[in-house]
Amino acid sequence: MKKGKMIILSGPSGAGKTTISHYLLSKFPELKFSVSCTTRPIRNNEIHGKDYYFLPVDSFLSKIKKYQFAEWEEVYPKLFYGTLKKEIFKIWKLKKHVLFDIDVKGGLNLKKQYPNNSLSIFITVNSINILKKRLITRCYKNLDNNKTNINIRLNKVKEENNYAKLFDFVLLNINLSKTKKKVIQIVYDFIYGRK
Ligand code: 5GP
Repeated sequence: MKKGKMIILSGPSGAGKTTISHYLLSKFPELKFSVSCTTRPIRNNEIHGKDYYFLPVDSFLSKIKKYQFAEWEEVYPKLFYGTLKKEIFKIWKLKKHVLFDIDVKGGLNLKKQYPNNSLSIFITVNSINILKKRLITRCYKNLDNNKTNINIRLNKVKEENNYAKLFDFVLLNINLSKTKKKVIQIVYDFIYGRK
């Protein structure tokens, strides 16, 4: 099967990956979102099969054993996330490029496996307070009903930012409309230009 391309968005939780990923999907019909598997509980606004495949832990572990994941990580303690190989191939079969919103280690893992047809973008902000505010807003909107999640996510930021230099591009998402313009250009060049 002919390989398509892949665009990997990574970075700390709350930096704006989901917003940017929805924006890219609205601008590039040639992109399709890779739906990951996760063992974390479903949130109010989420749909199984659209946002994630929500799996019980034993089912996730059985897929690991059967080598069904292209990559997987225990992103937070006891919470597993992973990309099924068949999800990637399904999207390429549709002649679309794959868009990922995955954690830093998973993103770098995919980049290593697909060095010639991947674009990796690290999205972050330069202040932990901005991240905190965004995560709290998400919590109050009841999109994520567990407040302890905020601290778990904030504790990871320093470690995640250390990996930024390994990505093809780093975008500081301070002003969303400026970030959107930059990301459109980067993705356009990648799809139609350099690789
Ligand atoms: P959330 O629980 O907020 O949806 O996602 C938590 C983190 O897991 C985010 O950084 C998200 O990008 C990451 N993530 C989502 N899907 C995957 C995946 O398939 N693999 C990896 N390694 N990380 C993922």
